Amino acid sequence: MRSITSLDLQYAHRFYGFKGEAQYLHGHTGVLTIEVEDSVNEGVNMVYPCNEIQKVAWDLLKNFDHALILREDDPLLPAILDVYEKQGIKNGHPQNTMKGVAFKTELATAYPDCRLVVTKETMTVEGMIKIVYDLLKDKLNIVKLTFTSGVNAATCEFPSTHSIDRCPLCGIELNENGVCPKCGYRKK
Ligand SMILES: [Zn+2]
Ligand SMILES: [Zn+2]
Repeated sequence: MRSITSLDLQYAHRFYGFKGEAQYLHGHTGVLTIEVEDSVNEGVNMVYPCNEIQKVAWDLLKNFDHALILREDDPLLPAILDVYEKQGIKNGHPQNTMKGVAFKTELATAYPDCRLVVTKETMTVEGMIKIVYDLLKDKLNIVKLTFTSGVNAATCEFPSTHSIDRCPLCGIELNENGVCPKCGYRKK
């Protein structure tokens, strides 16, 4: 069975080099839907608590929220960094507090201090699905991701790769010692 949850991401981007209006900087509210598959965990009678899926995902995906997403070769990138630098906000600001965990993958690098994500490819809805799967595939048994942004939407299914050992009392993943990090349950 599957547990399914969605989260909103508000971001700005543009399609550098694209022949259309999307080559201009603009913003979206994107909705990401994550589907996680496993057996029903008997103790809690669920696959995985949806609020916990959100927490795991949000730690990293917060980087895309109220953020600017630019391709690595976009000339806007050095221009914007220059403005941020002159304004003294490039390396953080006391009011920039809702920051995600910095990450660097083959597909994207997050700079939480200046609310910027630099991507290898254009950040389309398809591109976002590739980036998100790569970031979360080892943390959640994701079998489907859907991302909608304005009139654009993309969806992709993935093979079920692993079964997660979950706490029978609160449903989240047990750590490597078989202990629940949330409630302290210990696997016998
Ligand atoms: Zn767009
Ligand atoms: Zn627990």
